[in-house]
Amino acid sequence: MEAGRATTHRIAHRTCPLCEATCGLAIEVEGDRVLGVRGDDADPFSRGFLCPKGAALGELHHDPDRLRQPLVRRDGELVPATWDEAFAEVERGLSKIVADHGRQSLAVLLGNPVTHHLAPAFYLRSLIRAAGTRNLFTASTVDQMPQHVVSGLLWGDPSAFPIPDLDRTDYLLMLGANPIASNGSLLTAPDLPGRLKAFKPRGAKLVVVDPRRTETAERADEHLFIRPGTDVFWLAALVNTLFTEELVAIGRLEPFVVGVDEIRVLVEPFTPERVAPLCGIDPATTRRIARALARAAAAAVYGRIGNHTVEFGTATAWMAAVLNVLTGNFDRPGGVMTSSPVAARIDDRAPGGRGYRIGRWKSRVAGHPEVNGEFPAAALAEEIETPGEGRIRAVLSVATNPVRSYPNSARLDRAFAGLDFFVAVDVYVNETTRHANVILPPPSALEEENYELTFLGNAVRSFAKYAPPVFPRESAPGSAATPQAPSEADLFAKLVLILRGEGAKADPARVHDALVEEYIERECRDAEGPLAGRDPGEIRNALAGLSPVGKLLDLRLRTGWHGDRFGDRAGGITLAKLAEHPHGIDLGPMVERFPARLATESGLLELTPAPLVEDWRRVRARLEQPRPADGLLLIGRRHVRSNNSWMHNVASLVSGRSRCTLLMHPADAASRGLESGGQAEIRSQAGRLVVQLETSEAMMPGVVSLPHGWGHDLPGIRMRVAAAHAGVASNALTDECVIDVASGNAVLNGIPVEVGAVESRA
Ligand code: SF4
Repeated sequence: MEAGRATTHRIAHRTCPLCEATCGLAIEVEGDRVLGVRGDDADPFSRGFLCPKGAALGELHHDPDRLRQPLVRRDGELVPATWDEAFAEVERGLSKIVADHGRQSLAVLLGNPVTHHLAPAFYLRSLIRAAGTRNLFTASTVDQMPQHVVSGLLWGDPSAFPIPDLDRTDYLLMLGANPIASNGSLLTAPDLPGRLKAFKPRGAKLVVVDPRRTETAERADEHLFIRPGTDVFWLAALVNTLFTEELVAIGRLEPFVVGVDEIRVLVEPFTPERVAPLCGIDPATTRRIARALARAAAAAVYGRIGNHTVEFGTATAWMAAVLNVLTGNFDRPGGVMTSSPVAARIDDRAPGGRGYRIGRWKSRVAGHPEVNGEFPAAALAEEIETPGEGRIRAVLSVATNPVRSYPNSARLDRAFAGLDFFVAVDVYVNETTRHANVILPPPSALEEENYELTFLGNAVRSFAKYAPPVFPRESAPGSAATPQAPSEADLFAKLVLILRGEGAKADPARVHDALVEEYIERECRDAEGPLAGRDPGEIRNALAGLSPVGKLLDLRLRTGWHGDRFGDRAGGITLAKLAEHPHGIDLGPMVERFPARLATESGLLELTPAPLVEDWRRVRARLEQPRPADGLLLIGRRHVRSNNSWMHNVASLVSGRSRCTLLMHPADAASRGLESGGQAEIRSQAGRLVVQLETSEAMMPGVVSLPHGWGHDLPGIRMRVAAAHAGVASNALTDECVIDVASGNAVLNGIPVEVGAVESRA
């Protein structure tokens, strides 16, 4: 479905690809220019909501610093090259490294934006397989890996996130999340402000627990300060209270839940009185919240980044899950549920599956166990720097900026500078890609087909929306063989072919066709599947005329639970039908999926899997330690105009006063002789920064907050707007040696720091 060159004024509808909220956009276009972006009032899911980032999508598309042509390093400089030259250079560099040092000398790094695009969703598995390396690193271990581990171990599916059923809940306990700024995470629900506003009229309560009175806490019925990193103790005290006050009531799923008595024993020492000095929440409040959770008609406990990027991230996610199960709110409307995406099969089947394993192999240097097939981001620098067989010498990265988003950014910057070969698929020359030998820029999001496959899989409603490209892809300067820049699917297919040793000149159709054939054959062979016994040729013919990603998406939709099953179910969902409904189709709220969705080997919901019980020893040991001396603890911060490290080159999003400031309670500032608006020095075990101080009563005393993703001050980056609003890199302060052991997740919150006057350095 290629768009022709547009010459007239028109409105293009699609889903915003910038965050998890999946807002509908109405994009006003004249010729090849975006004139403006509004929220799509007719989108039944987002109902016209739009945040400043979505409104800036046109600016991002037209950003003169966004790469439109590959760059190849020649004589030390990154210079423009044709696509043919760039792919040839990738082939030369990668084949030499693999031939000389083997496939484990190559690392694949994936960043967050890949989850918003169709081609990566379909092609990355092939790319990783073709790379043949175990050195896979993604943004998951600086973000949500603890939740994958808990979902995998408790109910057998690491991708089945417990999503708070926002629109139907009576009581939402939210920890370490600020969806008014982030617009939701592991929770796709566009227009979070509107959905939270609807709580009061229906009598629902929102309680926010956070070391900062965030924008979300401001709208809550109740806000509780908690010391960073101690949520696990407080959640354990809530569980303890459920047992001591006989409030455990699992309900419908009780026959499928095991481990309740073991949980009772594990949390026994975690009384509200015992955890109060650690967490800063008085015992009476803890008991009151536990009772409210248990007695609400439907309640949900939802923890996010501030719960996951801490020393006990997995244990914290575990206790949140345990609370939801023990109060009968797991898989209950208004509690936490798992999504029912339109582009996925939902089968009626007996509970049980292959289960979930971690630690199937270990990292070379520190012996970190793999989790979800990847190693901790925190281990990347040591794997590049430490000599020996299997040392990472080459990197293939896709849409990631680890020099800003991984812990200990200074070490990682040095490590990247020491690579033998580095290929980056990216739209900017940023702090990381400035070290690349080749940069391959994918098309703008507006030049690709659009369906938010990943995030509609975490949505509070079953919703489907497809859009063709708004613009045709730009021409590729200087290349007779490839007059148009490759589609994202062609780009990934080329990389697959190079990694397989089939060469840069091989036809990407080989990869496209193989993916489609594999899907069709598998579905037609599956005796219980929606295409059981069908002729593969008939299915293949039905897809004729679609683009490679269009074919794969159509297959997913038509074999999905609302799909037309290629003619077997009249009126079912197809790609063509979605194309006729440019505002999207809403197919209702989340539905109960358990026990059928239980994929553990036992077919049960296992509350006490061995790796989590083992990890609990760390939590238990910390409970015995005296409360640490009253130092400062550093936490992160989101802003609605910021999106990790990659949108700071959009002028409208960084204009006005600096948002990269260190927030501190006025009393903490006064006791250190610091003034709001002045510069302060912040030091941690890992590094130091000088940053503008901003005092705020919204901070818990003893806690300071700095946003992440900034620090655009390194030589060689080509992001002029970002460089003019550089800010500081918070990951100069985070220590890659401190991780959440059970998941490998980086610890980015609750970092011990000292803050003082800048002169104190002397
Ligand atoms: S909230 Fe997210 S999806 Fe919605 S407009 Fe903003 S960036 Fe886009």
